[in-house]
Amino acid sequence: MPSLKPIIPRWRDWWDGLLSLLFPEYCRHCGQALNQHEQFLCRPCLSRLPATHFENNPVNPVVQSFWGRVPVDYATSLYHFRKGEVLQNLLHQLKYRNQPEVGQLLGRISAQRLLRCRDFPRPDCLIPVPLHPLKEKQRGYNQSLLIARGMAEVLQLPIMDQLLIRRHYKPSQTRKTRYERWENVKDAFALGPAHPDHTHLMLVDDVLTTGATLEACCRTLNQIPGAKISIVTVGFASK
Ligand SMILES: [Zn+2]
Repeated sequence: MPSLKPIIPRWRDWWDGLLSLLFPEYCRHCGQALNQHEQFLCRPCLSRLPATHFENNPVNPVVQSFWGRVPVDYATSLYHFRKGEVLQNLLHQLKYRNQPEVGQLLGRISAQRLLRCRDFPRPDCLIPVPLHPLKEKQRGYNQSLLIARGMAEVLQLPIMDQLLIRRHYKPSQTRKTRYERWENVKDAFALGPAHPDHTHLMLVDDVLTTGATLEACCRTLNQIPGAKISIVTVGFASK
């Protein structure tokens, strides 16, 4: 009797194809209808995401931006964040247009790049940069947690989202100077009740600008005995 195995995937392809015809999904950047093998972003837009390749360089600009500020084991940003480009549009949708699935997509594609990097030091867990509960309620979710979830899925790592707590809620940082941003966040974080010693923690955030928020997070996490801290962000905003 012939095996059914080769037939089932063909039926699944046929069914997925029919679903995408009946209920088309559109690219979150250019608006083109997606085919059944694409998710959230069409292939041309995905290929236009400008990779930094920092992950392969141990003295990359992200690492350098923390020199003299806080000790960091490994740090990288995966894509350049530039005005008018795909990543800026996606992060805008994630933060201001209630598109949480964009966060997981960005987390997954970033982690796939990390997996291909020979020097990527496998941390013990991922720590999303926390939002204040009020801000999280206003947005509906923490975008860094969604990015961390996408990364965790690919890297097969746990997420600890109660280890770092945000104490203050202050207005947006976007129009502030470097000094004002630091003043705004320097005391913003505290350790949660449970924090295991001697662990390698990897902070996850959407975009690195001045690094003030991540520096404040690192200083707080450094209070954990034997903690080793790394940083990964999806975007890198050149100054
Ligand atoms: Zn597109």
